Amino acid sequence: PGRLHVVATPIGNLGDLSPRALDVLRGVDRIAAEDTRHTQQLLAAFGARATLVALHEHNEAAQSAQLVAQMLAGENIALVSDAGTPLVSDPGFRLVRAARDAGIAVSPVPGACAAIAALSVAGIASDRFAFEGFLPSKAAARRARLQALAAEPRTLIFYESSHRIAETLADAAQAFGPERHAALARELTKRFETVLDGSLPALAKRLAEDADQNRGEFVLIVEGAPEEDGGEALALGRRAFSLLREYLP
Ligand code: SAM
Repeated sequence: PGRLHVVATPIGNLGDLSPRALDVLRGVDRIAAEDTRHTQQLLAAFGARATLVALHEHNEAAQSAQLVAQMLAGENIALVSDAGTPLVSDPGFRLVRAARDAGIAVSPVPGACAAIAALSVAGIASDRFAFEGFLPSKAAARRARLQALAAEPRTLIFYESSHRIAETLADAAQAFGPERHAALARELTKRFETVLDGSLPALAKRLAEDADQNRGEFVLIVEGAPEEDGGEALALGRRAFSLLREYLP
């Protein structure tokens, strides 16, 4: 059988496409792309062409079966998304699972990933982190998710779009409190790259003051809850228990 190559593409700066990624994209029989037009443009920028097939949220199950059949017949296939690493808040999981289930070798061509790029410049503890991807778009669900993460001691990484970044910062400040340190990475590797850091309310204020800071693509990194929080919660629990005990038989 052929092989499935999972290939990272740039998150804004074409210089981040690795020479090996280009070799693989040039050499495979077929490229499964989230948006074929977008990938066609990327290839054209490097003077390359390929047979492209669309693989997105809505056709992933059916398309995966077909791609697996083609690999079993000997084709080498590459998987790319519009930007960064496939499967990271992007399609591809079902295809990779189907290929592995069929005994096909799956090989990564690593490269850009916005979450990791942001973490690498945030100046926030990076020894343990949790990638949360996109928050729910509806306000109530978003607030509930943030609330559920309020005591998480690991550094948290979120993806956000320009439409909602202001609301997300406000909701995060509410859920995590005004003291929590955070970094907001915008338009990484692009012309208007900006990395701001400070308390969540301070970041919200910066965006409220400057419309330009609301444009583009964002990664929000929030420091984890202080570990003493566990101790505080425990003390609170003990206090509640001793109060309750007075009423228990
Ligand atoms: N697979 C991609 C990766 O590896 O990072 C992520 C795809 S996800 C659909 C797109 C989101 O990633 C954007 O909404 C934004 O949150 C983040 N992102 C992508 N490129 C970025 C950039 N250049 N600067 C900041 N965030 C970016």
